[in-house]
Amino acid sequence: MNKNRHLKFHYGIRIFLAVSMLLTACGSASNASAPDREVINQVSLLQGLTFGDYNGSVPVSQLKKLGDTGIGTFDALNGELIMLEGTVYRAAHDGSIEIAADDETIPFSNVTFFDADEAIKLSGIDSVNVLKAELDRKVHETGDNRFYMIRAEGTFSSMQVRSELPQTKPYKPLAEVLETDQTFFDYENIKGTVVGLYCPDYMNDLNAVGWHFHFISDDRKSGGHVLDLAADELEVSIDRTDRFSMALPDNEMFNSFDLTIDQSDDIKKVETGEE
Ligand SMILES: [Zn+2]
Repeated sequence: MNKNRHLKFHYGIRIFLAVSMLLTACGSASNASAPDREVINQVSLLQGLTFGDYNGSVPVSQLKKLGDTGIGTFDALNGELIMLEGTVYRAAHDGSIEIAADDETIPFSNVTFFDADEAIKLSGIDSVNVLKAELDRKVHETGDNRFYMIRAEGTFSSMQVRSELPQTKPYKPLAEVLETDQTFFDYENIKGTVVGLYCPDYMNDLNAVGWHFHFISDDRKSGGHVLDLAADELEVSIDRTDRFSMALPDNEMFNSFDLTIDQSDDIKKVETGEE
């Protein structure tokens, strides 16, 4: 940071403090330590993860200050992360669920504080693509270029999820890992919640565009990254979110990636299991 920018930064802080103090004086300020509920907080880039940076950078304890709902993974790619109502769960490689410890670290995730702006009922969801299409229609009404976190609850007549085996160093790229170390689980008539994130098109270099779903059962015994699903009826709550924040890791692997390399094919493969 050069001197001028440094100076500007300090002025920015001072103005912010002055405004905050003014608001406090007027008695209208909200609690200064209250979290920002309308922001999607992202740890690292999905592109870092696809290159093989599974080094956790943010502890679970910190993630809980950034949101109560979301998706992601753990250090060393040790399972799929589902955050629901403030609890961080791991869907492990054997398909089981456990609550993550506060000192575990996260290499990639997206979380927010969930405040439903809208609730809808969807029926006749034959596949994950039908769910995506229905949600896309909804997004189209309120804005394709915003972020959305959703919760879809109900009984799923079928649910196919995956997780993966934890990795050891040196880490291989994600597409290579998934060729050998993915584990798949199929469930029928399972009650639970899908947590989903929608990223707008301009997020192509930072995350996967469109929808990304993780699932956890009501009995908190099964879950993972959703590959396919079906449900006769779903109750979906939608949280539109208009701000985005990203915390970059600081490790040798991340800092040396050539992020000009287009990874969109690999990302599609790891997200959907499709070539
Ligand atoms: Zn996932």
